[in-house]
Amino acid sequence: MSLKTSFICESAIAIRNDILSHEAEIESLDRAIGDGDHYVNMKRSSEVIAGLVDELKPLSPDEALNKIGMKLLSTIGGAAGPLFASFFMGMAKIVKHNGASNPLETAAAFAAGVQAIMQRGKAELGEKTMLDVLIPTSTTFTLSAAGDNKVTEICKAVKAAADQGLENTRNLVATKGRAAGLGERSVGHLDAGAKSCQVMIHAVCNLLLKS
Ligand code: ADP
Ligand code: MG
Repeated sequence: MSLKTSFICESAIAIRNDILSHEAEIESLDRAIGDGDHYVNMKRSSEVIAGLVDELKPLSPDEALNKIGMKLLSTIGGAAGPLFASFFMGMAKIVKHNGASNPLETAAAFAAGVQAIMQRGKAELGEKTMLDVLIPTSTTFTLSAAGDNKVTEICKAVKAAADQGLENTRNLVATKGRAAGLGERSVGHLDAGAKSCQVMIHAVCNLLLKS
């Protein structure tokens, strides 16, 4: 099973739909411990990328991923815009050089995207950010793909890792992003960026589970 541009396009639509249907949850989280703009940033980002689908269709998968990254970089503000841009551009680089012709190669490209976010935001696991969903999800994706599991099994494991990573942000103290200013008062709330990532990961996995 290889990564195809048509799947990237279907994912863009599914992500836009699922971000919009989780408005209340995402919105309330950034309002509680951020500045309340995260949902607006995610809505705008996902609508802009879903609107790009016709331009993406004729491109190779790495070109499509890179174009998504560049579009996010030029249109979305806040912390999350440039971080997600880094993800797609980091992933594109590995897909271009190593391909993504099976789940293990796709997992390696996903891991490179997560690394790019870590470099850009200078954050690690345990700082109550999107990385608390993305890092364990990436590890699970790689291990499950390396174990020669079926795509359906990989998707189930990846969704569960995203859920657990999101739940883990509840008891963490924020040390990066706007919530860091709250220190201990950030404890007890989920991180908004982590929630958005969990929603997006579920959207992509659900597409694969349906097919
Ligand atoms: P802003 O923080 O500029 O208001 P958003 O509200 O769109 O931007 O995004 C906030 C989210 O970005 C946080 O919930 C967190 O998950 C993520 N985030 C913030 N800083 C970092 C960082 N340095 N590394 C990774 N993720 C981060
Ligand atoms: Mg914000």
